[in-house]
Amino acid sequence: SIQLDIQKIRADFPILQTQVYGKPLVYLDNAATTQKPKLVLDAIQDYYTQYNSNVHRGVHFLSQKATAAYEDARKKVTAFINAKHAHEVIFTRGTTDGINLVASSFGRKFLEKGDSIVISAIEHHSNIVPWQMICEERGASIKVIPVNEKGELVLDTLDELLDDKVKLVAVTYISNTLGTINPVKEIVARAHQQNIPVLVDAAQAAPHLPLDVQDLDVDFMAFSAHKMYGPTGFGALYGKEEWLNQIPPYQGGGDMIKSVSFKKTTYNELPLKFEAGTPSIAEGIAFGAAIDYINSIGLPNIQEAESQLYAYAVDALSTIEELRFIGEAHNRAASISFLVGDAHPFDIGEILDKQGIAVRTGHHCTEPIMQYFNIPGTVRASIAIYNTTEEIDKLVTGIKKAVTLLS
Ligand code: PMP
Repeated sequence: SIQLDIQKIRADFPILQTQVYGKPLVYLDNAATTQKPKLVLDAIQDYYTQYNSNVHRGVHFLSQKATAAYEDARKKVTAFINAKHAHEVIFTRGTTDGINLVASSFGRKFLEKGDSIVISAIEHHSNIVPWQMICEERGASIKVIPVNEKGELVLDTLDELLDDKVKLVAVTYISNTLGTINPVKEIVARAHQQNIPVLVDAAQAAPHLPLDVQDLDVDFMAFSAHKMYGPTGFGALYGKEEWLNQIPPYQGGGDMIKSVSFKKTTYNELPLKFEAGTPSIAEGIAFGAAIDYINSIGLPNIQEAESQLYAYAVDALSTIEELRFIGEAHNRAASISFLVGDAHPFDIGEILDKQGIAVRTGHHCTEPIMQYFNIPGTVRASIAIYNTTEEIDKLVTGIKKAVTLLS
């Protein structure tokens, strides 16, 4: 067990030196988006100042350099998730875009009237709405793995749910609201017993625990750079080659074709078949830098340090009498949701904000979870590698102050 130098890590993030309302920033909204280290910011600046050029087309020096850097980022993502091939990594605009790609493309190819998609009760809207849209179009329906009071999925009835009309299972690895870590490997194994492929929403998992798509044996996995210390509007979709070859392109345009004529157009090879149009090149390269950054600390080390901080936070928050956790799964990480007395989450969030503490309040794009717990929303604190026990102490003090002010 190694002890990370968190102060040294904090120094890598310029924004953590800033103040809000004259108070040092305590940033606990990492599930929404993480802050960016200098390495990532420099990668964006270097691209635009030194080799800005379009990728995949040019013979000239700058274009070759940009293409090499962009494709290098793909290799870094490939290694990061232990994918077998770099062409199984499709660059996207983020998790939402990746899931929409699969819903649209897989759905058009494989979903028929009467079929269904299985999702879980604790999905982000990004892993609900795209399935609802394609199901409506195809005359298919959605079935939901239920959740219990602790925020854990109830898998007793999974085998019954997975009947021969189910074409795909789509589940999140870690809940952005409850912090629940789902037993993805088990879900994949049980779905595969019925020959049903599985998509994993790894938006919240990718920054917090090591991912190995071959070990998990997932068929598709989507994640976002901006939750991994990288830029917004960029992410990756992993797909097993055999699936990516079977499903049609998502969008048409430049880069995704082999040849175009008015009679017949043929599509490019993987991964370009799914990457129409000029991508966010700087963001892609910076995503590679973000992965370098994570690797420089080591995900197993990040996971260990964060799980210690998470346990510290749960203990510290438990000292607040009026506080009640929403989601107490045995296995959880990153996000902690709670309510304080009968205060509205927004009021707590506002009082914390004035003390320089950034948390999120509301439904966190998981309205079905709010309906299940019959609550309007939660206060959510979510951690990253640069957060400290001192910051958690400030959160606790801040909430206690809110209790006094609101009572
Ligand atoms: N799924 C989960 C679990 C998330 O937390 C998020 C982001 N809040 C998303 C999907 C969507 O990610 P993005 O907005 O980057 O597409």
